[in-house]
Amino acid sequence: MKFKYNLEEALEISNKLIDQINKYNKYYYVYDSPIISDSEYDNLMKKLIEIESIYPQLINKYSPTQRVGFTPSDKLENIPLSVPMLSLENAFNKREIENFNQRVKRHLINVGFLKTKFEFLEYFCELKLDGLAVNLRYEKGLLVSASTRGDGKIGENVTSNIRTIRSIPLKINNPVPDVLEVRGEVLIYKKDFEKFNHYQKINNEKIFANPRNAAAGSLRQLNSDVTAKRPLKFLAYGLGDIYNIHNGIKIYNPSNIVSHEEILQKLLIWGFPVNTEYCQHASSIKELIEFYDRITISRNSIHYDIDGVVYKVNSLAAQKILGYSSRAPRFALAHKFSSKEISTKLINIKIHVGRTGVLTPVAYLKPVSVGGIIITRATLHNEKEIRRKDIRIGDTVVVQRAGDVIPKIIGPVLKERPLNTNKFSINSHCPVCGSSVEKSENGIISRCTGSLFCSAQRKENLFHAVSKRALNIDGFGKNLVNQLTDSNILKSLADIYTLTVNDLLSLERTGQKSSEKIIKSIQKSKNPSLSCFIFSLGIRYVGEITADHLAKKFYNLENIMNANENTLISKGIGQVASRSIFLFFNEAHNREIINLLLINGVKPINEKKELNLPLLGNNFVLTGKLSTWPRHLISKYIKDHGGVINNHISRKTNYLISGEKSGKKLIEAKKIGVTVINETEFESLVRLKENS
Ligand code: NAD
Repeated sequence: MKFKYNLEEALEISNKLIDQINKYNKYYYVYDSPIISDSEYDNLMKKLIEIESIYPQLINKYSPTQRVGFTPSDKLENIPLSVPMLSLENAFNKREIENFNQRVKRHLINVGFLKTKFEFLEYFCELKLDGLAVNLRYEKGLLVSASTRGDGKIGENVTSNIRTIRSIPLKINNPVPDVLEVRGEVLIYKKDFEKFNHYQKINNEKIFANPRNAAAGSLRQLNSDVTAKRPLKFLAYGLGDIYNIHNGIKIYNPSNIVSHEEILQKLLIWGFPVNTEYCQHASSIKELIEFYDRITISRNSIHYDIDGVVYKVNSLAAQKILGYSSRAPRFALAHKFSSKEISTKLINIKIHVGRTGVLTPVAYLKPVSVGGIIITRATLHNEKEIRRKDIRIGDTVVVQRAGDVIPKIIGPVLKERPLNTNKFSINSHCPVCGSSVEKSENGIISRCTGSLFCSAQRKENLFHAVSKRALNIDGFGKNLVNQLTDSNILKSLADIYTLTVNDLLSLERTGQKSSEKIIKSIQKSKNPSLSCFIFSLGIRYVGEITADHLAKKFYNLENIMNANENTLISKGIGQVASRSIFLFFNEAHNREIINLLLINGVKPINEKKELNLPLLGNNFVLTGKLSTWPRHLISKYIKDHGGVINNHISRKTNYLISGEKSGKKLIEAKKIGVTVINETEFESLVRLKENS
C-alpha cells in the first residue's frame, strides 16, 4: 500500500503531532489533568509512529515516541533512576497481539533460545493498573527512597509522601538482598475515590476526573500531610535494581529468580501487596485473548481502575535476550481496553469559534455518568462528521468516554429518534459576530471570516498570547481577557502593554492588589524569548517547535519578518507553514500590531548565532584545476566552516576535491578509498551538512 503523504507533508504533520502530543503529555504527566481522552491520545501517537516508521529521518529528539513520560517537575527534588522505568507497547486488537508474538518468537529463534515458532513460549498475564508508577528503593531492608517515573531516567522524589501509604512496608522483615527496588502502581480504589471526591466537593476543593488523576495529584504533593489524608494504595508488579554487595562487588539477582511469576511470589513473601486474583499463565494467542475477555467481563467488579491487561514473557532469561527499545521492554505488551460507551439525549448543538475562526460544533447533553464521571458536553468535530453520522438535536446518542476525558459522540440511536427532527447544518453567519462563514469544499472546515472583528477570535488569540507557553503573563486568565475585550479596553495584543491599574479597577471583581500584581506580571513579560514571542502571535501552523526552529535559524524578529517563502523553506520550515508565516508578516495590520508592541516596550531576546561549522571534523585535499572556485577562496571557505585542508592524501583524508587534469593525488585517493568529489558535489555536501 502506498503511504498517503510525501516527505514534506509528513514533516508538517509530524511536527504538528509532536507539538500536540507534547502539550497533552504536559497536562497528563505534569498537571495530572489530561485534556483529551486516552484513546484520542493513543490515536495521535499511533499516527506519529506510522509516519516515523515510513520516514525515519523525521524522528527527532523532541518526538514523544523517543521519550518516556515527561521531564520531571522541578518543584520536587529529582532522583536519577539506576534502572530506567519505561513505558509499555500498546495493542488494541488480535492482529497486533499476533504481530507481537511473532516478533518475540523470531528474536528468540534467531539467538537459538527457541528452535521453531511452534515451540512453547510461556507468557504471564496480569492487570494493567491505572495509577502512577513508583520505584521504592530498600537498602538492607529499609525504605530509603521512592521516586515517580518522571522521564524514565530521572524521577521525582516522593519518599515522604510514599511513607504515608500504609500498604507499603517501611522495613522488610524477611531476608532481602542488600539493595532491592520494588516497582508498582500507586492507586485509589473506586469506592474510596467516590468518597474522596464527595469530600473534596463539600470542602470546595478540586474535584478529580478519575482515580488515576487523583492518585497522581495526591502523590506528587509538596506537603506530605496532604498526601497522608488521601486514600492511596499500592500494588507491586516488578523489580528495578536487585543485588548484594560482597567484598565491594555487586552480585545481581542474589535470590536466583528465574521468571516473572517468581518475582511476584517473592514480592508477596517480602510483604508487598500483589494482585494474585487476576493473573495467569498463557502460551498461545487464544489463551491471551481468553484472559483479556475474562478481565473485560470482570472489569467492573475489580476494586480499582485498570486500562487493560499486560502480557509478559515469563522467563527472565528470554526477557534479557529480548531487551528494551528506547521506550519500552520488548518482552511485554499492554492489551488496552476499548472505550466506555453510554447513551443520552442530545439537547442542543452550539458553535464554538476558535482562535483562527474555525467553527466547532459542541453537543450539549442531558447529564449522564460514564465510568463515574458526569458528562454534559461532547465535541462533534465538524459539520461533515455530523452529517455523516446524521446526528440531530433531540436524538438519543451514544457517548463514548475512552480512557477518559473529552467524550465523543459515536452516533444516534435511530429507533429512538423523535418525530420532526432536522438535519444539522452550520449557519452561513458566525454566531458571535455575524460575519459570513466560509466552508471548505470537503465540508470539514467552516471558518468565520470576521478575523479580528470577531470578538470570539480576538479573545482566543489574546488568551493564547498571554498563556504560559507564550508571553506567560501570570494572573491574566480567560475571565480577564473576556472582561477587557467585552469592555473594549483590549482591542489588540499591543493594548495589553498600555493597560493601567485603573483600567483593571474599572472591571467587576478586581481589587487594587490583584490589579497591581497583574500590571507587574505584564511588565515582567516584556522580554520574552524570541520563540515564545513568535508563538504568542498565533500564526497558523506555527506551534512551539516551529517557533523555536524559526528563532534558531533566523536569530532575530526582523529576519523572520523579512524572510520570503523560499528562504523559510530553505531553512527547513514546511511549505504550508512558510506560506502562512510569509502572509502573516506581510499583512499591514499584523505589522502595525508588532510595531506597537515594540513601541510599548516589548523586546524579544534575540537568539545567539550558532557557530556555523558544518565541515567540522572533515579533512580535504584539493587537486587539479577548479573551474568556479579560485583555490584560495575554496580553501578559506573550508577553513571558515570548520574543515581542514591537507596537502597530501592520507587515511585521514575524508574528501578529495578534484578538478580538471588531476594527477597523482587522484590515483592515490582512489587506491585507499577516499571519496572523490567535484566542485558541484562539494557545494551539495556543504548544503547537506548545513541541514543535518
Ligand atoms: P502506559 O501507561 O500505557 O504503560 C506503562 C505503564 O503501565 C508503566 O509505567 C506502569 O506504570 C504501568 N503498569 C500498570 N500495570 C502494569 C503491570 N502489570 N506491569 C507493568 N507495568 C504496568 O504508558 P505511559 O507511557 O505511562 O502512558 C501512555 C499512556 O498514558 C497512553 O497510552 C495514554 O493512554 C495515556 N496518556 C494519556 C494522555 C492524555 O492526554 N489523555 C497523555 C499521556 C499519556
